[in-house]
Parts: sequence; structure tokens; C-alpha cells
Amino acid sequence: MASLLPVDEARRLILERARPLPAEPVRLGEAVGRVLAESARSTVDLPPFPSSAMDGFALRAADAPGRLSVVARIAAGRPAPGPLEPGEAMGIATGGVVPEGADAVIPIEVVAEDGDTVEVPAVEPGAHVRPRGGDLAEGSVVVDAGTILRPAELAALGAAGLAEVACARRPHVALVTTGSELRRPGEPLEAGQIFEANGVMLAAAIASAGALVEAQVSVADDEQEHRGALERGLEADVLVTSGGVSVGPHDLVRRIESELGVEEVFWRVAVKPGKPISFGVRGATLVFGLPGNPVSSLVCFELFVRPALLALQGAREPGPGFHAGVLAKSVRRNGQRDEFLRARLNGDELEPLSGQESHMIARAAAADALVLAPRGDGELAAGSRVRYLLLR
Ligand code: AMP
Ligand code: MG
Repeated sequence: MASLLPVDEARRLILERARPLPAEPVRLGEAVGRVLAESARSTVDLPPFPSSAMDGFALRAADAPGRLSVVARIAAGRPAPGPLEPGEAMGIATGGVVPEGADAVIPIEVVAEDGDTVEVPAVEPGAHVRPRGGDLAEGSVVVDAGTILRPAELAALGAAGLAEVACARRPHVALVTTGSELRRPGEPLEAGQIFEANGVMLAAAIASAGALVEAQVSVADDEQEHRGALERGLEADVLVTSGGVSVGPHDLVRRIESELGVEEVFWRVAVKPGKPISFGVRGATLVFGLPGNPVSSLVCFELFVRPALLALQGAREPGPGFHAGVLAKSVRRNGQRDEFLRARLNGDELEPLSGQESHMIARAAAADALVLAPRGDGELAAGSRVRYLLLR
């Protein structure tokens, strides 16, 4: 037991082998969730011209308060008319070009219009004018390399005039679930059989990490079936298996992978659930052997596979990303292994669920979070500060 690999060490061994894949151009509309491979620079000043933040009147602050003659109306998207002279005002829409000579905009709500004149109160120079480049200067970095692109980053890239960006290509993942007892959901279940649950879970999790499931098969605990599926799976960037990595006579995955040239980097990690996880490489292919119990597979995916998939895409912070919270009730710690407890999140309070065994996927499905109870003696008392991973 003392020889189990610590979780952080396992993560380090994985990440040092998960080098970013080559970059490809990606249209902005397809880039959500992708990782920027090179820092993107703005093609324009943002905003590109001094613009009005309000519907109102552009004027010289020095002319206010007073009555000014309205000499033009400036709509958004139109060039400004000639320069504004002393004593003049121009009607202006939000986003309109503030004309030369004007140094402030006064909102429509605070003026009194009368024909071609407007009565304005005092105003500070610069009021309601968005200066050119006030958000970002042309040529500056708008989004850093390694950023996972969310809607706000896409908007910033679009505002900066970029139609496409460079992103590492998506990792191709082969998924092999093992176990002679497994039947596809919807098929008839015979004595001793259970429905296969990890395939759909891992495929969804892989997709949510920005990777592509290029093949998904379920095989019996049979050498030939394993060899065929694993051999094909090793052509992918990442091979993920479930089941068959424990110490039983039907656990074939590691032996057959080794025969197929996989170099094992580690087997068995000080984590609960998930202890039997294996990790290896063949050439550039990363090979994860997740344990078969569905909750073990889920925990190992979040701790090890998701970070690897994000690192392959060049993410600056591949995670796992822990949050801080407070334990709602006391839990006993495991002496040898870091334990990840399924918990409900209320505010920052984490309530461990009943039914923490690694086969209990139905109980785990009600969890919002995986709470880390670091290995050690005794209890974590109710009210302890803990770290957790979000499952939402
Ligand atoms: P194994 O890691 O192959 O020893 O499997 C451990 C436990 O997980 C056994 O009870 C298996 O029946 C179960 N199991 C393995 N693979 C799956 C799967 N894909 N879906 C649901 N349960 C599984
Ligand atoms: Mg099995």
C-alpha cells in the first residue's frame, strides 16, 4: 500500500507527456471550447474611433451650461459630419462617431430640445465619450495563448476583427469498455449481466473536454477481442479503456497493452475510488486504463483524463480546477488514499451523499461535486475547509 503513487505525482507524469497537438485555423463560430494556440492581436483600436456612450448631444464642455444650436444628427455607423464649432451641438446616437471639436456628450434625458436648439446643463470634459483605443490598442493581445475560448473571448476576438484563430487540433480518442458481463442499455439482460454505463459517460466527458471520440467499442474479457480493439485504439491520440485493470484473472488490459508495445508509466494511484488506474504511452499515444466501477471511472476521468485532453489542446491551466468550500458533516479519512466524496453543494457548503461506494453511479449522479478528503488519520470535522471539483 505504501507504494501507491500520490495523485499529484500521477498527474505530473501524465501532463509531462501531454504535449500540445499541432495548431489549425478555426473559424470563430466553431471555436467555442477550443484552446487558443497563439496569442491573438487586435487588428483595430477598440473602439476604433471616439464614440458616444449615450443617445444625446455632442458638444464642447466649455459651452455648457447654455443654449446651443443643433447643426447635425449623427447615427451609429455613419461618418461624423465636419468639425463641431463653438456654440454648436450635434445629436448623436450610442455608438456614433464623436465629431472633431466635441469633447463631451450630454444624455438626451437631461436636455430640453426646442426646434433646432437645445438647452444643456453643465458637463465635464470627456463625459460619455468612449476614447479611441480605450478598451484595447491595435496590435495588442486580445486573448492569450492557452486560453479556453468561451463566449466572451469569442466576442473580444470578433470585436478585434479576427474571423479565425489558431487552435491546437482536437485530440482523437478511442474508447474501449471491457467486461463480459456488460450489455448495451435496451438489450435484454440475462443472469449475471449488467448494463454498460461507462461508455456513454466517458464519451460525453471526452466531448465536454473538447476532444473527439473517433471509435467506441465494448469487448468481452477475451484476449482476441481485447487485442483487436486495443490495437485499433492505439492509432488514436488517446486510448481510454474502462475495466480490466485490477488484479483478477479476467483483467487483461495491461498485459495485452504491454504486448502491443505500450510502456506503462504507472499503475495504481493513492486515490479512492480509482486505485487501479493505469497510464502508459505508445509513441505519441496516451493510454489510460480506467477502473470499471463507474464512479471510479468518473473520478479518474476528472482527475487525470480531462487534464490530459486539455493539455493536448494546449490549455494553460489544464486542471483539475479545485474550488474551496466547507464540509457540512464530518467524514472519516482514509489512511492511504486521497478520497473524492460525492457531495451536494449548497452555497459553499458540501454535503457528502449517502452511498459512497464506487459502483453506486445512481447515487453519484445526484452529486454536484467531488470533495477531496486528503489521506490521513482520523476525521475531517464538520466545518472544515475543503477543496472540491465541480461536476456540473
Ligand atoms: P473491473 O474493473 O473490470 O474489475 O470492473 C469493476 C466493476 O465495475 C465490476 O463490477 C464490473 O461489472 C463493473 N463495470 C465494469 N465496466 C463497466 C461498465 N462499462 N459499465 C458498468 N459497470 C462496469
Ligand atoms: Mg472487468
